[in-house]
Amino acid sequence: MGVEEKKERLKRLAGDEQFVSGIYNYCDRWCERCTMRSRCLSFAMDPDLRTKDSPRSDPGNEQFWEGIHESFQLAMELLQESAEQWGLDLNADVDVELEKRERRKERLVDGSFLGRESKAYATAVDDWMGRYEEQFAEQLKQMKREVDMGISGHDPIPALLDLHDAVEVVRWYQYFLYPKISRALMGLEDEEQDMMDDALGSAKIALIAIDRSLGAWQTLGGQLDLQDEALDLQICLVRIKAALEHRMPEALVFRRPGFDN
Ligand code: SF4
Repeated sequence: MGVEEKKERLKRLAGDEQFVSGIYNYCDRWCERCTMRSRCLSFAMDPDLRTKDSPRSDPGNEQFWEGIHESFQLAMELLQESAEQWGLDLNADVDVELEKRERRKERLVDGSFLGRESKAYATAVDDWMGRYEEQFAEQLKQMKREVDMGISGHDPIPALLDLHDAVEVVRWYQYFLYPKISRALMGLEDEEQDMMDDALGSAKIALIAIDRSLGAWQTLGGQLDLQDEALDLQICLVRIKAALEHRMPEALVFRRPGFDN
């Protein structure tokens, strides 16, 4: 579908009441596991970009980059149209003061405990996965042997699936936390209600991601017999969670449109 067609489709679908307004701002972007796909305009616009087995979701495939390019072009054209409608000049000189404020906010977030810890967590996960690669391989071999032997009364498949799921969960949220937390903290600095909702919704999905990651680490540590080795990462997550709840207690009760109704 070309950009013009997409634009028309977007305008047509945007008025459809089946979609929950802005639902994609408060989700974890894991469309394959999402129960709200039929209510999400973002998914309806480009389902192929959001499903694992599609070549359009594989960064190693040219179609992925074409999809990104089209989405970007579409966003730019829509932005241009809206700017014209509202009488805004997108080529006007940058508001230097506004820019300075934004950069200041970014520095504040990056220098904060939450900013530093959530970034450090992402790196620590990579280190951990690299360090215990052999244990993974050994455990998988062992499970495969058990499957091949077909021991009566012992089914290793659920444990295998749990392990696979735990790795997927940890990996999915590893790089998700920092952007969501920084968006939440940046939003705190704004006074507009929309931005506050966005901040709380971002904090809430970050808290959900932390809980799911903690559960996944529990499984990983148990299955690989690496409970002690997984503890540092769990502690890191618990500290991030406590700090975020302390900073934004309202996030705990925030109702994300579509998900928490
Ligand atoms: S709401 Fe669900 S379908 Fe839509 S972008 Fe988020 S995860 Fe994907």
